[in-house]
Amino acid sequence: MTKTRLYDTTLRDGMQGENIFFSPEDKLKIAKKLDDAGIHYIEGGWPGSNPGAQHFFELVRDIKFKNAKIAAFGSTRRQGKSCEQDANLLALIDSGAPVVTIFGKSWDLHVESIMDNTREENLAMIQESVAHLMAKDREVLYDAEHFYDGYKANGPYALKTLEAAVEGGTRCLVLCDTNGGSLPCEIDTITREVVAHFKTQGRSDITFGIHTHNDCAMAVANTVTAVHAGATMVQGTINGYGERCGNADLTAVIPILALKMKQDCITDENLKKILNLSRFVSETANVPPVNSRPFVGKSAFAHKGGVHVSAVMKNPRAYEHIFPSLVGNERRVLVSEQSGKSNITYKAKELGVDLG
Ligand SMILES: [Zn+2]
Repeated sequence: MTKTRLYDTTLRDGMQGENIFFSPEDKLKIAKKLDDAGIHYIEGGWPGSNPGAQHFFELVRDIKFKNAKIAAFGSTRRQGKSCEQDANLLALIDSGAPVVTIFGKSWDLHVESIMDNTREENLAMIQESVAHLMAKDREVLYDAEHFYDGYKANGPYALKTLEAAVEGGTRCLVLCDTNGGSLPCEIDTITREVVAHFKTQGRSDITFGIHTHNDCAMAVANTVTAVHAGATMVQGTINGYGERCGNADLTAVIPILALKMKQDCITDENLKKILNLSRFVSETANVPPVNSRPFVGKSAFAHKGGVHVSAVMKNPRAYEHIFPSLVGNERRVLVSEQSGKSNITYKAKELGVDLG
């Protein structure tokens, strides 16, 4: 079975969420927790964007992680400049991160209307920037920003941007639904077409990642769909923190991949750490945890209705889609005006009270 790699961007894209802030020291603590839970890649920030991001890479430089590789994030070179002169690429190299994730433009609307660039120069920026970083002995991941929107607008050009990154030397193309406006059916079709395109070119060595946003409440669904269509890397954040409506929530994506899709991505032991990881990141961000959050929320396995409790006491599968302990969570039985005899019996047993 192909391994699905887990790529966390809580410390970069997550921090672009409103009211989410982590100091470099907070980021280091979170990175250690992510590593302990078996995350494969930890994106630490954009070193060219602010001194705080640079400081994190200094803090993390000499730390040996058990599972994770640290990634620095940044953009391709500026138009009309050489890679050697580009401050952003220089900061990526100076960060000392063994992995560099650079993003480039896939959508001709952005290239021409927003960047005031030409399509040819955009392709050169992608190819040369990837090649420049590869020559510095870095593992380079290419984030194709706005890929799905770009493909819908001009498929042949969007594919050319990916080919430029491959010509530069990367073996990993991350397809991004940057605006979060795509639906699972679109993600499925486009991802399959892109994977097939490179296969027919004899490039079975190229792997694909998926990076989604939650503007249509589809980030997790789109991520899972892309994996089903051939992606072998998932990018997301803990608790779904991120710009606007957030990123794909890894606290849901990871259990779905492991438990529902039987992907080789995390050990059973590490999966049990997901709840603690979620709470730790909430606490560090000083944002209250969401009780209804799937898998890790306090209410994710809480039963209130008498009929439900009665059934769960006979067989938990009656109203639980997984065993809560698989993700470090627990079953809870609530007492209210909707309770039946079973709720009281369960509670009495839980509290060690003999009802006689
Ligand atoms: Zn993003």
